Amino acid sequence: MNDIINETIQDKKSKSFIIKKNFIVFRWILLLIVIPVFLFASDESFMSKEFWICFSSAVVYNSLVTSLLVLNKSKWAERAVSIVFYMDIVVICTFSYVLGGIQSDIYFILFFIIAYYGTGRDVSDTVFISIFALLMYSISSIFYEIGNLSNLNYLNLIIRGIFIIFAAYGISGIIIEVKKYDELHKKEFKRARTDKLTGLANRHYFDQKLEEEALYAEYSRKPLNILMFDIDNFKVFNDSYGHLWGDKLLALFGDIIIQSIRKTDIPVRYGGEEFIILIRDLDLEIAKSVGERIRCQLERQNMYLQEGDSSKKVTVSCGIAQFPTHSNDIKKVVEYSDKALYYAKEIGKNVVVCYDEIGKLDKKDFSKAY
Ligand code: GH3
Ligand code: MG
Ligand code: MG
Repeated sequence: MNDIINETIQDKKSKSFIIKKNFIVFRWILLLIVIPVFLFASDESFMSKEFWICFSSAVVYNSLVTSLLVLNKSKWAERAVSIVFYMDIVVICTFSYVLGGIQSDIYFILFFIIAYYGTGRDVSDTVFISIFALLMYSISSIFYEIGNLSNLNYLNLIIRGIFIIFAAYGISGIIIEVKKYDELHKKEFKRARTDKLTGLANRHYFDQKLEEEALYAEYSRKPLNILMFDIDNFKVFNDSYGHLWGDKLLALFGDIIIQSIRKTDIPVRYGGEEFIILIRDLDLEIAKSVGERIRCQLERQNMYLQEGDSSKKVTVSCGIAQFPTHSNDIKKVVEYSDKALYYAKEIGKNVVVCYDEIGKLDKKDFSKAY
């Protein structure tokens, strides 16, 4: 049920593609603009052989990474992006070695890498990549002076190490705050779309989703079924046993619906004791059998309302219409399912009726349930 309110798989896919695209653009901007400008502003000589070796290797390396990211469509794509960040750190530390060890300011790029990586992940991941960067940077600095370690400015190395740890600390703080806000926002968003009593989607969500589902049905050339339910004689039930039991019955019916449908179906509390299920990609006959199953499930429930009371039968009627079979206007299809439901009530209630069957069924001998 939670899935009805979550993002669709399609949304998730397009989101990850946007993230990938932004990531690639960010890398090229960093490489082609920020790195030369940064080196120019620092003590590095623009004309030095070392600079051009690093810069051209970075272009080759980034081209390889770009093609890897563009071509990698497997389920490992996410993992591949993470590995790239670690490779970046190794590459930057190698450049730092080539450009003069601790004398080079290129280590600053490590902050960009940690920040970009950290803002999209957990605190533990950020701490982990920071420790990795710290280790790699220390190794490259020590290696540069390996012949003459007394030359190494240890104080400088420690200060830079502290900078890296501070960067990780700051980013972790941001991650925690953003996550808190995000959770709150998601909860609010979900609450606004959910009916409190039954946990199903509410009318507001249904109104939003209806056109979208119709578009999907049209695009995929698959039918969309609308099943409209209305509990029979609910007013009498309320009057006899009180609103509290009325509410319990509504919640019970919500549960029956959830247990009888697939994850891709959308169950909605449409009004007081009216419910709708949107069922994608299912033949009318099978959709009818789903309605029938739900109707039977409720009929089979025994409700003991008062002590010593015999069990009460509660029933529900259902009307079904299909898009685009009955109309290619989705609002009309909702109207037709309502018409079918109205007819189900007319012929004696506790029955499932398809729009095509209106006027064709016999009246049932209906005896009052309460
Ligand atoms: P029918 O078989 O023709 O559908 O008759 P009915 O009595 O079910 O229909 P009617 O529309 O006359 O009554 C619906 C009742 O549902 C009236 C209202 O008091 C009750 N109702 C609506 N919302 C809620 C709710 O949230 N909780 C409870 N307990 N009752 C509700
Ligand atoms: Mg009603
Ligand atoms: Mg009713």
